[in-house]
Amino acid sequence: MNENTKQEQSLDPQDWDALRALGHEMIDDMLNHLQTIRERPIWQPIPDEVKNVLSQPMPRQAEGEAAVYEAFKENILPHGMGNTHPRFWGWVMGNGIPYAVLADMLANTMNPNMGGGEHVPNYVERQVVDWCKEMMDFPVDASGLLVSGGSMANFIGLSVGRNVKAGFDVRNTGLHAAEKQLVFYASEETHSSNYKAAELLGVGKENMRFIPVNHAHEMDIDALEKAIAVDKAAGLHPTCVVANAGTVNIGAIDDLEAIADICEREDIWFHVDGAFGALAYLPESSRGLLKGMQRADSMGFDLHKWMYFPFEVACVLIREQSDHLDTFAVSPNYLEHMPRGVAGGHHVWAGDMGLQLSRSFRALKVWMTLKAYGVEQFARQIEKNIEQARYLEKLVKAHPKLESITPVALNIVCFRYVADGLDDDALNTLNREILMDLHERGIAVPSYTTLNGKFALRAAITNYRSTFEDFDLLIEQTVALAEEFLAKA
Ligand SMILES: *Cc1c(COP(=O)(O)O)cnc(C)c1O
Repeated sequence: MNENTKQEQSLDPQDWDALRALGHEMIDDMLNHLQTIRERPIWQPIPDEVKNVLSQPMPRQAEGEAAVYEAFKENILPHGMGNTHPRFWGWVMGNGIPYAVLADMLANTMNPNMGGGEHVPNYVERQVVDWCKEMMDFPVDASGLLVSGGSMANFIGLSVGRNVKAGFDVRNTGLHAAEKQLVFYASEETHSSNYKAAELLGVGKENMRFIPVNHAHEMDIDALEKAIAVDKAAGLHPTCVVANAGTVNIGAIDDLEAIADICEREDIWFHVDGAFGALAYLPESSRGLLKGMQRADSMGFDLHKWMYFPFEVACVLIREQSDHLDTFAVSPNYLEHMPRGVAGGHHVWAGDMGLQLSRSFRALKVWMTLKAYGVEQFARQIEKNIEQARYLEKLVKAHPKLESITPVALNIVCFRYVADGLDDDALNTLNREILMDLHERGIAVPSYTTLNGKFALRAAITNYRSTFEDFDLLIEQTVALAEEFLAKA
């Protein structure tokens, strides 16, 4: 026996049977938690005791697996964000899918590094990316990658666009070699991740043109054309246009066909930010809204929003694989591919398609869940959410005290309570109170936005657990809270 063996310890459990029993208990508890999610408040204020539990010194000594699991159940599990609940419609978030939760456990058990190498998990990701192309009618030979979210997808798409269209070797020289300053275009309603990308890519927010929108919150195409012409005349270099497929405020979809035409004519990169809206391509009934999306040079969309997957997973697609690799591929000697062995395989390594080298096996939950339920089931859930948005809009319009703030473009409804004799300031205060009460009383979580100076409750419906009745309740409670507030005032 090796003389060191006696002192050897590891992070494997000391008692496998005990951990197995604890693991079974965790699975039972978690599935029970999800099965009964509707019965619990959607959100509650965080008690001081809980905050206290989470401001302790670093644990030097073992507390034991079972004891820590108890602490999780007591302090953490009851105080989530609420997005697993059927009445969560805040920001744009998915619920998570129970089967995908289990798949994540399997993925973490294998724990491969998805940066590269010859192993089956990498083939799983390529399969999933191929399915993503098929979902969006992208060419079969397009390139793509699973990433952490829509922000990263936009960053990658715009990085490729900048490098391809710059006209000089940006990778080597940076933007120092630019004879003409690069300019990006997006609408006023563009998501912040796009101008963050412009900032980080050296283009700068000042060189991002925020094109005005029309009454439907879609990019004003004439204004885009004019801005491009003005910039060209001023000796600047129009480089990328970011089109919205679903704006974060109201779900508006830009005229993708028209933007594609302009980009083609002007030799500008056409990126589509389809974080959630691109998924409306799945149901037949809404597909037409996204006409022209398949012409994008790059597009990004989340699987953790309107495909309901647990965080984090999104997809970026790049039409030309060579463009993608020319932007991200590197070949330091410690990453050289071998003819055989784990470092072999004649395929592109994911580390050559994005910023991350070490990557998680997020592909497994997607592969398993899409196969288990079929893409058509996802299309039906998305279609249901769109119908629910129309239903909620109808309820709002039918109520004398409620006002619909914008037409429903897709799955987002913005509305407010109105009372006679109150001006916009007073109404804004009233609707803020309603919002916070809806949250604090654990009734529902819409989020909010301000449109034309009007503070609105905003329901972004990317929730497969919501029923039509849940929207009846939202309306009923909104009105009840408003009356309660007005009675007190
Ligand atoms: C959410 C969102 C993003 C950012 O995606 P993340 O997954 O949060 O990084 C980008 N664009 C739009 C339109 C979004 O709704």
